[in-house]
Parts: sequence; structure tokens; C-alpha cells
Amino acid sequence: MPVRQDFIRQIVRDDLASGKHRAIRTRFPPEPNGYLHIGHAKAICLDFGIAAEFGGSCNLRFDDTNPAREDPEYVAAIQEDVRWLGFDWAGLRHASDYFEVFYRAAEKLIRQGDAFVCDLSAEEVRAYRGSLTEPGRDSPFRGRSADENLDLFRRMRAGEFADGSRTLRAKIDMAAGNINLRDPALYRIKQVEHQNTGHDWPIYPMYDYAHSLSDAIEGITHSLCTLEFEDHRPLYDWCVDKVDLAHSPELLQPLTDKGLPLEAAKPRQIEFSRLNFNFLVMSKRKLLALVEGGLVDGWDDPRMPTLQGIRRRGYTPSALRLMVDRVGISKQNSLLDISILEGALRDDLDAAAPRRMAVVDPLKLVLTNLGEGHEELLQFANHPKDESLGERSIPFARELWIEREDFAEVPPKGFKRLTVGGDVRLRGAGIVRCDEVVKDAGGNVVELHCTLDPESRPGMEGANRKVKGTIHWVSARHAVPAEIRLYDRLFTVADPDDDAGGKTYTDYLNPDSRRTVRGFVEPAAAQAAPEQSFQFERIGYFVADRRDHRSDAPVFNRSVTLRDTWAQ
Ligand code: ATP
Ligand code: MG
Ligand code: MG
Repeated sequence: MPVRQDFIRQIVRDDLASGKHRAIRTRFPPEPNGYLHIGHAKAICLDFGIAAEFGGSCNLRFDDTNPAREDPEYVAAIQEDVRWLGFDWAGLRHASDYFEVFYRAAEKLIRQGDAFVCDLSAEEVRAYRGSLTEPGRDSPFRGRSADENLDLFRRMRAGEFADGSRTLRAKIDMAAGNINLRDPALYRIKQVEHQNTGHDWPIYPMYDYAHSLSDAIEGITHSLCTLEFEDHRPLYDWCVDKVDLAHSPELLQPLTDKGLPLEAAKPRQIEFSRLNFNFLVMSKRKLLALVEGGLVDGWDDPRMPTLQGIRRRGYTPSALRLMVDRVGISKQNSLLDISILEGALRDDLDAAAPRRMAVVDPLKLVLTNLGEGHEELLQFANHPKDESLGERSIPFARELWIEREDFAEVPPKGFKRLTVGGDVRLRGAGIVRCDEVVKDAGGNVVELHCTLDPESRPGMEGANRKVKGTIHWVSARHAVPAEIRLYDRLFTVADPDDDAGGKTYTDYLNPDSRRTVRGFVEPAAAQAAPEQSFQFERIGYFVADRRDHRSDAPVFNRSVTLRDTWAQ
């Protein structure tokens, strides 16, 4: 395993060395309002990876404080995705597990004079908040007594008030330079059903309040999040300090009663930059719109940047972990080139994927000097650089399929493949010369008649004869017809998020991002298990489709081409 060096790991090392923490705890806190995407893979590799590297533990916590947008379908998919990436959680938690603690903590803040019930409407709150250059103004309700606030907050909790009519706000500083500290809301009224707590709660905690306290409850030592939360850190610390769970066991009573192991501690929030790639959109809102608009075939469409999508495309967990390692961790936001993602997949599959032969655009080639019933099995290594992957046999016979583009009647300059009267090597089988071209009534080439040089078979002296090119092939009688889905990038422009000129990302969809062709694969490829990856020699990396592939009806998805061929 590589030794990873970055500023977060350095903080963790220092904290362990100084004895500040004996063990570290992290958490990955997705909101179950959509499927995870490639960006989340970075956060997952960091949260779970750091815990594993330093002998700590990591929780998976559903940040389910916004019930209107959440769905159990997402909850299940997120767990599957984290496991697929190769990680497991110490505890599976929901922010909603802690609703009672949050509530008690809010009463504590009210009693301390650190929170008040405010009757301003959302619009008025905005008007009072001020701006970057203007300080805000105190809410007229800021001076309410603790008793009055407690009474109103309890009635909010009892469901007496309409949605949006009141909020519980922290009492911090309306003149603070950081707008997040201008008496931010801690609770809002929302009479909606929650996927975990049903109709128990008519009030829901706000993100900053719930997130900081959840971290404290779980004894998270290093709370890693993306840069947009940097300005929220003072509020995060304020909540943790004012509530002070570590010295308030009574607040944790509802959880101790349920037998949850608790570690209330003071967590530290550390921010890192988001992962962004060109040619992709990664906001859940836009991904949802693509799915709902029928612009892609669901969340696991192989063109989607969701983990479900790229998994179906043929991305491997190790390729994603490699990509995250290569990208590294910093505080500098940037738009990375998609070739970093594709390159990690190529490198991972180049090392690990067995080779197979497949023909995606078939042209018949007949070896006229072989008998009708000629049939033999040729041995091929599964991998040119890794003997441990073993061998397979490939049937060879009189009639073959080759790639149409490997023949040219009128060869362009520098053409190294088959031409009339020319020679080419059939990979692992011998050298053939094309004698004759058979055409249909329309003048299209439908068949090539060739002779196999009997002195050029594998192992013979004549096999060393120099010819310009080597092409792949499959035996027509033995190959299995296959559906081959040639995927390409979903967007034609590098920055589909750029809304310049009144255009939006859906205007940049690549019409050729999926082409389905009928080809032929060698028998050993058809036998693939779903999700098995191969290099189809000379064509690219392919995966047996996770859902549709069957040995008697193979379906392969192109994961990535052999080289970066995208013309910008
Ligand atoms: P989106 O804006 O795409 O909907 P989000 O940040 O709202 O994403 P969450 O479910 O809240 O999604 O994310 C869970 C965790 O993953 C958070 O800690 C978040 O910071 C992190 N995360 C989300 N997107 C990225 C990204 N592009 N790069 C790195 N980390 C990310
Ligand atoms: Mg979020
Ligand atoms: Mg979001």
C-alpha cells in the first residue's frame, strides 16, 4: 500500500503522536437524497481510508435532516456503493437517531440564553440578516425570556404552529463578519413524514446544528468535509462548545437508554477541495433531472457519473481508489481533466484484465486452402505480462470474422493491415494473403478469400517472417454473437455546467454517447460472469453488463478505449 502524504493525514499523525487522540474516528455523512457520484468516492476513500490506515474507525451516517427530499431507495444504494468501493462501517447511523438529543440540547441552549424562538418570516429573516458589507439587525424577538422561549419551543415540538411560522435561532451576533453567525436557525417547523421517524417530529434541526452534534455524539475526532463548509466551521464549533455534550450526560440519556455506545467528544472539522471533472456534471439535482427527463436510462446508465453508473460501465473499485490517490488531497478547488479518471481505469485494467478477441464490425474472411471441416484449438495467454492469469484455447477454423476496418480495397497511405494481394498476420494463428474480394450486388465487400501460409503457423520458422500488421479474428462457427454497447462521453463540451449564452447542460448532450452494435466474441468471453472485465484486443476495455449479460446472449459495455482518442 502506498504511504499517502497530505495535510489531513499529517494532522491525524500529529494528533496521535501528541496523544491528543488515542484512536481516531471519522464518518461519511451522505444525505440520502440521491445516488452517490464520483465526487463522493473521494470523500469515501478519505473518510474510510484514513480510519483504516491509522487503525481507527469510520461510521456511515445518513444525514437525514431534510425529510422532504429523502428516500429509502437512496439509503440502500448508498450502502451498496460504499461496500462496493471496498469499505465497511463501524456503525451505521442516522442523524435522525439523535433527534431527541438534539431537542434536549436545544432546550439547554434556550436555558443558557443561547437560543430564542423567532417569529419572523423567512423573508423578514433575510431582510434582517444584512449583507457582506452591512451588519444585520437584531430580531425583535431576540429579547424573549428563557421561559417564554421554552414554552414556545415546546409548543413548536407539539405541532401547534404552522410550517414556517417560527424558527429556533442561535443567539450569536448579528454584526458578525461571517454571515453564518448572524443568529442562524437551528430548527424549522415542517409537518412532513420522515423516512425514519415517521410523524414523530413536526420540527427538524438545521444542517449545521445536527451535523456538529452528530459528530460530537459519535466521538468523531476528525470531521472531514468539502471546502464550502469552511465558513460554517465557526458555527460548527459554537454548537459543539455551547452544547458541550462531553460534560452533559443527561442530554445523551435517550441514546444510552437505547444501548448506543457513546463517546461524546470535541470533533474538529477539516475541509478539503471537492473533486470535479470536466465533461461531467456532478450535482445531484442535475443528475436527477437527467434521469427524470429520460435523457439517460436511469441512475445506473453507464454514462452517468453515479457510482452505480460507472460501475455498470466497467469502472472497478481499485481504479477509483487509484484515481483518488493520484488526485491527492488539497484545499485548492479545481476542474480536473477527465483523462485522469479514464487513465486510472486503463492502468488498473491493463494490469488486471484478461485479454480476449472480439470483432465489433464483422467482415467474413475465408481461408480457401483449409478444408471445410478444419478445426483446431490454439492456446493463448490470458495476459501478455502476467502468467498467473493462465491460458485459454481459441477455436480456429476455415471461416473467420475480422474487423471490417482491418481491410482496405484501396488502402490509404501507410495502411498496415490487409489489402488485396497483401499479407497480414492473424494474431496467434499465422500469416494470410488476400487473393480475392467477394462483393454483393451493391458493390459492398462481403467476403475475403485468403490463403494461410502453412509455413507460418505458431512455432514454425516461417512464423518469424516480417509482415506489416497483426489483426485479431474469431472463428465464425465458434464465436458467440454479442450485443456490444459502445459508450462515449455524455457531454460534448468540457464544461457542461457553464450556462453561458442561455444554454444549459442538457443542450450539450452527446448524440453519439451510446451506439449498440452486433459483433462476435470468442467463446471464453461469452462465458464471462456479469461485471467481469476484459481487454478486447486492439479495441478497448469492456465489461460484461451487470444486468443484461448472459453466456448464451452476451452483452458487453465499452468501459474505456485503449488510448485517449477523444478529439476536443
Ligand atoms: P451534491 O452537491 O452533489 O448533491 P452533497 O455535498 O450535497 O453533493 P452529500 O450527500 O451531502 O452530497 O455528501 C456527502 C459527503 O460527500 C459530504 O461530506 C460531502 O462534502 C462529500 N462530497 C460530495 N460531493 C463531493 C465531491 N464532488 N468531492 C468530494 N467530496 C464530495
Ligand atoms: Mg450535503
Ligand atoms: Mg447537495
